[in-house]
Amino acid sequence: LKQFPYQNVLVLGLAKSGTAAARILLENGKNVRVNDMKREEENEEAKELKQLGVEVITGHHPLTVLDGIEIVIKNPGIPYENPVVAEAIKRNIPVITEIELAGQLAEGPIVGITGSNGKTTTTTLVYEMLRSSGEKANISGNIGTVASEVAKDIESDEILVVELSSFQLLGIQSFKPTVSVLLNIFEAHLDYHKTLDHYANAKANIFSNQTESDFVVYNLDDDLVVELVENAKAKKVPFSTKQHCQNGAWFDGQTVYFQDQPIMDKREIVLVGEHNFENILAAIAAASLMGAKPEAIRNVLTTFQGVRHRTQFVRKLNNRSFYNDSKATNLLATSRALESFEQPVILLAGGLDRGNDFDGLIPYLDNVKELVVFGQTADKLIKVAKQAGIEHVKIVDNVEHAVHEAYASSEEGDVILLSPACASWDQYRSFEERGDMFVRAVHKL
Ligand code: ADP
Repeated sequence: LKQFPYQNVLVLGLAKSGTAAARILLENGKNVRVNDMKREEENEEAKELKQLGVEVITGHHPLTVLDGIEIVIKNPGIPYENPVVAEAIKRNIPVITEIELAGQLAEGPIVGITGSNGKTTTTTLVYEMLRSSGEKANISGNIGTVASEVAKDIESDEILVVELSSFQLLGIQSFKPTVSVLLNIFEAHLDYHKTLDHYANAKANIFSNQTESDFVVYNLDDDLVVELVENAKAKKVPFSTKQHCQNGAWFDGQTVYFQDQPIMDKREIVLVGEHNFENILAAIAAASLMGAKPEAIRNVLTTFQGVRHRTQFVRKLNNRSFYNDSKATNLLATSRALESFEQPVILLAGGLDRGNDFDGLIPYLDNVKELVVFGQTADKLIKVAKQAGIEHVKIVDNVEHAVHEAYASSEEGDVILLSPACASWDQYRSFEERGDMFVRAVHKL
């Protein structure tokens, strides 16, 4: 730990990242105390840390956990209104997130990626492009790995490609990517951040420690992003699906470029959707700045079928194409997926009822020829299908049956798309479990 002049540390909130942070601090000779709401009897992580010599306080958040503490490492999900966090701030004890540790542990350069949507996809693409170019790249993000755990083994010639949420970025001190990527800013997560300004500024933290020798890759088509980036010290490298940008990643209607270099014909790209094209341009810019080669980028983009559960291409069978977009748990995500296809679509949708209606889907249903619905929202979706003039509607028990019904009535050239527009918890443990059921059923056909 390069710049960590603290000996007595409180880790607030365990889960995966807190547990990793506590272990790493312990390995670095720090005195670690953890405080987690989950009671010890049912808290495996707490038990494990206790055995390693960590002081463990569980089941409540007494303010005394701060006594003697020099710094707090807060789980990104814990709000700043939490009494312990608020008290720490009052006592001038710095509050950071585990990502700050990752920044200090990684010996090599960092590519950090943030935005409201597209983080996982872009992070994966940058990583694949660098690997394919022969660079020693490592990935960390929502796909399972904790940043500091990956970072602690990273040597100076290795690159860390890391997905960053605004919650993580709120808690940095010296964290500094060599290349930061700002994809887009939508009015999401406002319940936590209260105002759009606060949310946008959290994202802007990604380049707050960058200097003139670093780069910020940003979306030239997003006004809020453009405004934020004005204050960045790093060299600005835009990407745009609409405008020519000589010093960034852009598209002339046929060919994709990075700066003056043609990379590939857009039609060769496997990943569907205009939104993914934005992620692709961002990834091309970031990876190129870190040394990725055009040939390697092309290789990735002509084969990459998408991140699991995110409009992921699954299979083509008798000229029907199957896509798994189980991550689409709201209207916006499903609309994006539907916009990605010009072919006739059989849409598989439904799930947890959150009390909303689905009228917002109607403008996107033009090329949906059949709707197969399941879960709590089945009736609401049928109503919307009727309004949109979709004649063929089927109700089924679950995603597996939906695959069979969809295939039975499909024709050559159709797209069969799971994009539920709902959370999965009425029937499944997670969107992953739902998506896996879809993929398995498709492969069994
Ligand atoms: P994140 O990691 O930020 O949640 P993902 O890459 O996992 O983003 O994509 C999640 C969903 O967000 C996708 O299925 C798609 O519906 C939507 N999405 C992805 N990229 C973009 C983008 N650039 N703009 C708008 N929506 C996007």
